Amino acid sequence: MAKRFCALCGRTDTLLVENLCVPCYLKKHPPFSVKQESTIRFCPQCFSYKLTKRWVQTNCTNETEFLEQLLKDVLPRFIKHAPGIELIIEPQITQVELKHKIEVPVSITIKKENLTLNERVTVTINLEPSLCGLCTRKRRGDYESILQFRSLRGRVSEEERQQIYDIIERVLQTEKHKDDYIPQIKEKKQGFDVYVSTTKLAKSIAASVKELMGANLQESFKLSGMKNGKKQGKTSISVRLPSLSVGEIVQISDRTILFEKIEKGNLVGRNLETGERTVIQHKELWESEIQSWKPSTEEYLIISIAGDFLQTMNLENYEILEIRKEPSHFNLREGDTVKAINMNGKIIILTPEGASLFPTQAD
Ligand SMILES: [Zn+2]
Ligand SMILES: [Zn+2]
Repeated sequence: MAKRFCALCGRTDTLLVENLCVPCYLKKHPPFSVKQESTIRFCPQCFSYKLTKRWVQTNCTNETEFLEQLLKDVLPRFIKHAPGIELIIEPQITQVELKHKIEVPVSITIKKENLTLNERVTVTINLEPSLCGLCTRKRRGDYESILQFRSLRGRVSEEERQQIYDIIERVLQTEKHKDDYIPQIKEKKQGFDVYVSTTKLAKSIAASVKELMGANLQESFKLSGMKNGKKQGKTSISVRLPSLSVGEIVQISDRTILFEKIEKGNLVGRNLETGERTVIQHKELWESEIQSWKPSTEEYLIISIAGDFLQTMNLENYEILEIRKEPSHFNLREGDTVKAINMNGKIIILTPEGASLFPTQAD
């Protein structure tokens, strides 16, 4: 019997397919097909690329990273293979410049049963720079909403403005708003206007400012026309701040309250008549007539604590005064100097820190 051998490499001790050993057969008839050339649009602003009809974000920050990511994502789409075969596709690229046309040598490792073969192909990618939809809108400064920050009293303070900027920053960092942006901030006589990309973003920011700063919100919509049966226009949200500061006295309806903080949009303080901790709901806060003022504070030295009384000395006029001890005085010690306000003869001690007017036990 005539010995059969591979027509290409001459091996005899192996299975032959159409007169070729298996490795030679696969080399001659590769079990994959390669799309040699392709055009891909990419956004040079944010490093996203367009696949079929969709812009794909890569979160890359430089060209090298982007090219690596792009090749990893798109090469498998260019190389089709028969089922039952495992292909390992590795781009062998060293250059990182995003020029118009890039030639990418690709190493393809074919694995079938215990056979491993390596092939090299070249894929040409035409990179077409083009601003993505999002970057186009950003560049045009498109916006859906305006947030109007104003104060109930006078101008929005620098401190309030910083607090608002921090809130905006935090909201923009959430996954829900990662594509949102602020095209501009306009100064106004009584405050400032923040233009925002979407109404959703405007509502998120406004809700946070309400919760953390007790703001009152009022939304309005200005229709500018119709498009495909949908109303077109801008939403404005007026965000009005109560602008109260710690230690301020607030007269609301028939109550006199020492303001402590805003919590979940509500005012928290101490009722100066009853000494009780009081919460004024957001709705009541904004529906009532409010008067507020900053009381002048005086310094007192605590001379002694005995029974239900604190013996104190007013450090301005050296007057000795006895003050009834209250639960909130639990952390006061003899020798402490404290700030206090005089409400119609009643001395109300603010704790040494000033900021935390109430001990945690009151919570
Ligand atoms: Zn052979
Ligand atoms: Zn872009």
